[in-house]
Amino acid sequence: MPVQPVEKIWMNGSLVDWADAKIHVLSHALHYGSGVFEGIRAYETPKGTAAFRLEDHIGRLFRSAHLYHTPIPYSQDEMAAAIKETIRANGLSHCYIRPLVIRGYGEMGVNPFDAPVEVSIAVWPWGEYLGEGALEAGVRVKISSWKRNDQNSLPPAAKATGQYINSVLAKMEALHGGYDEAIMLNQHGQIADGSGENIFVVRKGILLTPPLWAGCLDGVTRDSVMMIAQDLGIEVREDNLVRSDLYHADEMFFTGTAAEVTPICEVDDRMIGGGHRGPVTKEIQGTFLSAARGEVERYSGWLSYV
Ligand code: PMP
Repeated sequence: MPVQPVEKIWMNGSLVDWADAKIHVLSHALHYGSGVFEGIRAYETPKGTAAFRLEDHIGRLFRSAHLYHTPIPYSQDEMAAAIKETIRANGLSHCYIRPLVIRGYGEMGVNPFDAPVEVSIAVWPWGEYLGEGALEAGVRVKISSWKRNDQNSLPPAAKATGQYINSVLAKMEALHGGYDEAIMLNQHGQIADGSGENIFVVRKGILLTPPLWAGCLDGVTRDSVMMIAQDLGIEVREDNLVRSDLYHADEMFFTGTAAEVTPICEVDDRMIGGGHRGPVTKEIQGTFLSAARGEVERYSGWLSYV
């Protein structure tokens, strides 16, 4: 998906022109994947632009950094302020936000400890992640032959740049096969998540999603959707799922900051439900998007005004 350039990017404490936001080719993270990052969205609301669950995303960024012994030279409050400043500087009413913390230039070799930590924040307008119209029409997915990173190899609880080469393999395989997205199994053959989304199944009116220990990311959208479903009176269960649970689902959808709530209409060439966005998916998706756009008082605590 092409990135639409805007004016400024925040780099190590100051705003620089978009075209000048550069790093050295010998940056540690380029060679060894030693970076952690976040993906956040800001929405246009009746009271102005608001970042969705900003503190939760920044919290996860710091947890990822902690896991990889990466000291972020700013506080969580300073990161939140910098994100808001970057959105304001670009005059955007809604956008995707990409904070990135890397081990930078100065040292080579696997040891990251002496490589400087560099922090950047980029924002740009981003539409429907899984394709124009996907939020309504849904997507076709394929269970990948690539397994999700194992807990004891590359911990899926961390959002680290190097770990995403696992997702990249799965995504390429799915696209080569003519599908929109991949679903990854863990080393035990249970459903983990998509290449960049969590997964939900609706079966007999109950909402099911894999537990975090299945190897999925602790998704902020996942958490929001679980809360919304409960508030709508829908029973939610975290349970291990196998591939036949997907083939026999009444409805299925992905959740993610980029993907928001995207219906899944087909898995491995098997139609799910009626092959289109189901009623439970539609209700949850509608409530989620209304909450993000500041239209639901109950969820106003999820918004950080820019
Ligand atoms: N799983 C993976 C592998 C992801 O990359 C993402 C996107 N961050 C998600 C799930 C969804 O997480 P969130 O809702 O916090 O964006």
